[in-house]
Amino acid sequence: MFINMESKLRSLREKMVETQIIARGIKDKKVIEALRKVPRHCFVGPESYEAAYGDFPLSIGFSQTISQPYIVALMTELLEIKDSDRVLEIGTGSGYQTAILAEIAIEVFTVEFIEELSKKSESMLGKLGYTNINFKVGDGYGGWPEFSPYNKIIVTAAPVSIPEKLKEQLSENGKIIIPVGANIFNQCLIRLTKSKDRFINEEICGVSFVPMVKE
Ligand code: SAH
Repeated sequence: MFINMESKLRSLREKMVETQIIARGIKDKKVIEALRKVPRHCFVGPESYEAAYGDFPLSIGFSQTISQPYIVALMTELLEIKDSDRVLEIGTGSGYQTAILAEIAIEVFTVEFIEELSKKSESMLGKLGYTNINFKVGDGYGGWPEFSPYNKIIVTAAPVSIPEKLKEQLSENGKIIIPVGANIFNQCLIRLTKSKDRFINEEICGVSFVPMVKE
C-alpha cells in the first residue's frame, strides 16, 4: 500500500534504477545517484506520471520524445563528467537530461529549437531548484559560441553528420556524445574525444532519436 502518489513514484523510480540502469551495467555512481534523485515524472504530463518510469521513451508533444531512462544514463556515463565541467546540451526537450547533467556538472548550457519546450523546461527546472542551467532558444547546429569552449557536449537529436561548429566549441580532451544517421532506424551513437588536433571516434551502439532539424 502506498500512502500517497509521491511515495509510489519514488518506489517506481528506485525500481527503474535497479532494473533498467544498474542491472544493465551502468556503474558511474554520480550518474546512478542523479537518476535516483531527479523526479522524472515532473518532465511528462500528469497522465504519464507512472509511465515516466517505464523502459521506453515517451511523447512530450511537438512530435518530440523524452529519451528512455537507460539511454539518458548511458550517454551521461559516456561523457565522464567531472564536477568542474561545463556542459553544452543540444535538444533541451523535456529538460530531464538537462537535470541529470546539472546534478553532476558545475554549469549546463542547453539549446532547444522549439521555444515552448525551452520555456516549459526552464520553468520546471527552476521549480526543482536548479540554478546552474542556462537556456537558449535556437538552432543547435551552431552550438552556443559565446560561452565556448565546453568540456563536454551532448546532442539528443540525430544529425546526418557531426556538426563542425560543435567540434570547434569543444575544449582540449573534451568529449561529444551524439546519435548520427539520416534514418531513425539506422543511427549510431558516437563518442568523439578531442585529443591534440585530432578526434578519436568510437561507435557505441545503435540508437533511435528524433532527427535534428535544420532551420
Ligand atoms: N533530452 C531530451 C530529448 C528531447 S528530443 C529529453 O530527454 O527530453 C530532441 C529535442 O531536440 C527536441 O526537443 C527537438 O525540438 C530538439 N531539436 C531538434 N533539432 C534541433 C536543433 N537543430 N537545435 C536545437 N534543438 C533541436
